Amino acid sequence: MENEAVSKNFIEQIIEKDLEEGHCEKVVTRFPPEPNGYLHIGHAKSILLNSGLAKKYGGQFNLRFDDTNPTKEKNEFVESIKEDVKWLGADWEDHIFYASDYFDQMYEAAIKLIKKGKAYVSDLSAEEIREYRGTLTEPGKEDPYSTRSVEENLTLFQEMKDGKCEDGSRVLRARIDMASSNINMRDPVIYRVAHMTHHRTGDKWCIYPMYDFAHPIEDAIEGITHSICTLEFEDHRPLYDWVVTELGYKKGPEETPKQIEFAKLYLTNVVTGKRYIKRLVEEHIVDGWDDPRLVSIAALRRRGYTPESIQKFVDLCGVSKANSSVDYAMLEYCIREDLKMKRPRMMAVLDPVRVVIDNYPKGQTEELEVDNNLENPELGRRKVPFTRELFIEREDFMEEPPKKYFRMFPGNEVRLMNAYFVKCVGCEKDENGKVTLIHCTYDPASRGGNSPDGRKVKGTIHWVSAEHAKRVTVRLYENLIDEELGVYNEDGSLNLNPNSLTVLTDSVVEPALAEAKPYESFQFVRQGFFCADYKDSKPGEPVFNRIVSLKSSFKLPVNPA
Ligand code: ATP
Ligand code: MG
Repeated sequence: MENEAVSKNFIEQIIEKDLEEGHCEKVVTRFPPEPNGYLHIGHAKSILLNSGLAKKYGGQFNLRFDDTNPTKEKNEFVESIKEDVKWLGADWEDHIFYASDYFDQMYEAAIKLIKKGKAYVSDLSAEEIREYRGTLTEPGKEDPYSTRSVEENLTLFQEMKDGKCEDGSRVLRARIDMASSNINMRDPVIYRVAHMTHHRTGDKWCIYPMYDFAHPIEDAIEGITHSICTLEFEDHRPLYDWVVTELGYKKGPEETPKQIEFAKLYLTNVVTGKRYIKRLVEEHIVDGWDDPRLVSIAALRRRGYTPESIQKFVDLCGVSKANSSVDYAMLEYCIREDLKMKRPRMMAVLDPVRVVIDNYPKGQTEELEVDNNLENPELGRRKVPFTRELFIEREDFMEEPPKKYFRMFPGNEVRLMNAYFVKCVGCEKDENGKVTLIHCTYDPASRGGNSPDGRKVKGTIHWVSAEHAKRVTVRLYENLIDEELGVYNEDGSLNLNPNSLTVLTDSVVEPALAEAKPYESFQFVRQGFFCADYKDSKPGEPVFNRIVSLKSSFKLPVNPA
């Protein structure tokens, strides 16, 4: 019990206290994306955190589109966000909302504040407002329009709403405290004039509420109890509380809704910010929002990540109040762990060279039966054709090997995985010295991969029957940026890794892999985990993306988070 209490994160502790002390009956959380881009791994953390808390405490999880800023929002993003949240397994049931559905209520709330003397219409320009606001060390100056009467404010606000004011000519400000040490409390703007078409409300409105005013109202309307956001909103919390309290939604400081901040998830060697991803997409540096080198959720899905692996990653990261970057290798560790037992281990040769077994009968094909996954018998067995001519990896042969090279070289005997012992007897080369054919002999008594006389070999090599091989395209990835080389160039642009994508067009795979369906993933023995690309694969002609290699530099921390 003791341990369990210790392992609870600080948000769980707050929630449990609120439940115990009766500040809320049922936990209601939300994920509030602005539909202005695709979601990324950082959002996945927020989604799984919010939906996970609702699930853990028997509460409710809302998906709410925070679409109060009409400039950048698009239906395309709404659809992609829904798909991503669903894929991650966060179930909003029928609790899907749009902030724009509350525009009427927000307008009423503004009128309520005006009537209470808590809001006024100002004719200061954006620049003047900034000047009057003061600085961290100097208090702000009173807005000359702050003395307008309630009636005048109501009339002017009505005019703003009726389209009688130009963009930027007037705003509605909350009347709080121009001398506050918190700049967010110095009479913040809560409504602005903007003649813009909204992706859902069309031209109904030409005034739009500001985030800091709209968000607490959205939470209050939906009965959100714990409004979880990232640290940059910490200084906005007093304003959040001011709005819900002045509007009568919140009765006391301990009551809900309450805003709780946690640290954003940052990953090393990748680009997470929506703005940066957008630039890479718009400048065609990557192949769309789901380019497998990105860490948008769509990209991770395309690359072959599973929802389970992302959940595991988020769990390992933990929840904290301190900003830090998580090693990208930890994400890779999570997908490797997830796929290790689940997926079959198949043979693919990425950079092939031909081998001929001189003493193997011409025209003969043996169907060797092999385990799909030695560690998981439930995955069953499959047949792999074996013939006189095979492909092996070019790097698995050396004419003049260095010490400790245990693979194929003249005079050395190795195991062809699941098949036979073969001994290399020589090779043929072209005029440039490139090896074109390797000659071997095999020991028929070693069928299955072991010799009855007990002799041992040090190397085991994977192979594909040349006659049955299916030629495919395989894509290998490296991170788009390398922090050790510097993230930015001198001109502020991203310092991109020129080797982030390698396309192999000569790779060969065993016949069963030719049938791979989009999103289906496999271990290619000795090479890593690969996933059939959903965009570029055609029936019978898969294109494989490497999800992750088999080797890891990452060690699970003893005490994660
Ligand atoms: P970005 O900074 O990448 O553009 P954003 O914060 O503008 O993202 P929103 O759509 O406003 O994106 O965010 C929706 C929710 O996701 C917010 O509650 C936000 O705090 C959370 N969120 C965004 N980025 C991260 C992150 N890196 N880690 C955890 N939560 C995040
Ligand atoms: Mg945002």
